[in-house]
Amino acid sequence: MTIKTEKFEHVNYLWDDQVADQLDPVERLRYRSNILGADQRITNTGGGNTSSKVEMTDPLTGEKIDVLWVKGSGGDLRTSTRANFASLYMDKFLSLENIYNKAEVRGVKTEIEDRMVDMYRHTTFGLNPAASSIDTPLHGLIPFRHVDHMHPISVIAIAASRDQERLTQEIFDEEVGWVPWQRPGFDLGQVMKQKLQQDPDLKGLVMGQHGLINWANDDKACYELTLTLIEKAARYIEQHDKGDKTFGGQKYKTLDENARKEILVKLLPKLRGMVSQANRFIGTVHVTESVLQFVNSLDAPRLAEIGTSCPDHFLRTKIKPLYVDWDSQKESYELLIDKLEKGLEAYRADYKAYYDACKHVDSPAMRDPNPTVILIPGLGLIAWGKNKSESRVTAEFYSLAIEVMRASEAISVYQGLPRQEAFDIEYWLLEEAKLKRMPPEKEFARSVVIVIGAGSGIGKATAHRVAKEGAHVVCADLSQEAAQATAQELIETIGVGIGIAGTGISGCGPALGLAVDITNRTSIRSMFENVILAYGGIDNIIITAGIFVPPDIQGYISDDKWALTYAINVTGPYLVADEAKKIWQAQGLKGSLVVTTSANAAVAKQGSFAYDTSKAAANHLVRELAIELSPLVRVNGLAPATVVEGSSMFPRDRVISSLVKYKIKFDESESTVSLREKLADFYAQRTLTKSPITLADQAEMAYLLSSSKFSKTTGQIISVDGGLHEAFLR
Ligand SMILES: [Zn+2]
Repeated sequence: MTIKTEKFEHVNYLWDDQVADQLDPVERLRYRSNILGADQRITNTGGGNTSSKVEMTDPLTGEKIDVLWVKGSGGDLRTSTRANFASLYMDKFLSLENIYNKAEVRGVKTEIEDRMVDMYRHTTFGLNPAASSIDTPLHGLIPFRHVDHMHPISVIAIAASRDQERLTQEIFDEEVGWVPWQRPGFDLGQVMKQKLQQDPDLKGLVMGQHGLINWANDDKACYELTLTLIEKAARYIEQHDKGDKTFGGQKYKTLDENARKEILVKLLPKLRGMVSQANRFIGTVHVTESVLQFVNSLDAPRLAEIGTSCPDHFLRTKIKPLYVDWDSQKESYELLIDKLEKGLEAYRADYKAYYDACKHVDSPAMRDPNPTVILIPGLGLIAWGKNKSESRVTAEFYSLAIEVMRASEAISVYQGLPRQEAFDIEYWLLEEAKLKRMPPEKEFARSVVIVIGAGSGIGKATAHRVAKEGAHVVCADLSQEAAQATAQELIETIGVGIGIAGTGISGCGPALGLAVDITNRTSIRSMFENVILAYGGIDNIIITAGIFVPPDIQGYISDDKWALTYAINVTGPYLVADEAKKIWQAQGLKGSLVVTTSANAAVAKQGSFAYDTSKAAANHLVRELAIELSPLVRVNGLAPATVVEGSSMFPRDRVISSLVKYKIKFDESESTVSLREKLADFYAQRTLTKSPITLADQAEMAYLLSSSKFSKTTGQIISVDGGLHEAFLR
């Protein structure tokens, strides 16, 4: 292994015989795929595929036969398991060529090409449910045992250059051939097979505007060949690197860290509102030296207009980004907003023109015409997607596209995919069918929900509840540790559900844990800044944070405890709403605020002066905020009563003093959980529904009030108290 490392400077050599030699042939393919996918310079997330033709016993005849194991549709090479590989009877797969060749109209983009994808299922070996991808013929029709098809930056750079055929020859001699761009399918497989028939010594092919494919009869040799070819291309590019002259040199300067953050915090909610008028988007700000060198460069406007080249890239980045020509050193923020508004308008019009010019009679309807990548000199790259994972991958893909352009412009002139070809990928009926098979979006998909008080009790239960609805959940709490613990729970339990279909990406960024002290405006502001930088904006806020300070034995409450009760229960929600208002208004998108008050707000009784009056004030705060924040944001109150289970408001000593107060029998040695149950049962008997009130009951209402199910309700206090007639509001 050490010998190999010296040979490779631009890729990671990861093959380990000690690991590989313990594996069966299919697991060796899985292993090879994982280590290829582990290096972004070899292939992008979700991109590329691998195959092995393996001799196996046919369960039907007991005979030895060849089975094509090939990476199936969806999933990522790095994280692939055996289940991600389709298995096809080789002889049956090869017989499909007869069917294909018999079709009267055949060739790239013909109907028979798309129909072939369904035929692969008839050739399945071993009842394997994994779906074959459109790239299957690229593997099946190549008469070598092992095939790797990758999307390496260095090879795409060659494939996206004006003189790609000449460069392929110059860099790889006779070893590697070249095929012009064509949409993957059965025809492309046949084109490759013919190439190999004409020149049996070929070890691989550069695929125009696309990537690399190569083969060998030994799997380790195939892996090493893949790395060797990529290394060769990368070295050639390195020798031609333009250094300071890259992208025509620098035109603009980067803002310093603080100034950049200050602008982004102001800009992102505004921008999110601009791109989210039809569909809400979640943002990712991507700033690296390389991205800054690109956005600040002289050539950025020209290159951005050409768009991304690799089809895998532009399915997420759209055919091109929006570049905004703004001088951060000389021009004002207001001018940036003005330029963005005009730029977006032009972009949408341009996208519609592209759709109208390229569409076919059976094309799917036009999709959201907003850009998913926005480039701003001095600031960096801002990507938008339907969730955090998607916007992250979009940012990753465009930064890979930047590397492709850097390399291509170093060795030649960068070229995009012709618009019609781009369209035929973007609006491919097979892609549309994939989108249609996806489950419908959940209630809080595309939304950011902040739960303040998420470290314990109702807040924690609410964080879990809204996460189930697809929300990006900001778990905020006075205790940073508790906030992060809840966020971590969410990432572990449901993070997977927020991944991106078809890429194998799971659980990145569905939850965030942040500290906040709601009695302190600076602390609240800083929390919102972090949320904006993480997601680009906010949608719903649910405040469950509250405090109950028991009076002393004589029934008195000190002035500072009185003040603290009001600071947390009344002033806190007000300050949160007041700071959030600016963000909601900048976005111009509908939102919701839920404040947790209490049934105590309506019931006068002895011994909880501060708490009860503060909650009565909170009830009225809800009404005033509903007026103040209309029509953009709905504000409602959730009034729980006596939730004993898991509540931080009921520590052991409070439970015991309540049991004593209500003359309920208990034993000092009983666990807190058991004591709480006794108290909860007692409370339940006082209600009209005679049932204990749980955290889940409160979380459900917090969710419902925030959801579209209550879209016509604002300024209301909803009690979840089991039915306490003394607490009826009137
Ligand atoms: Zn590909």
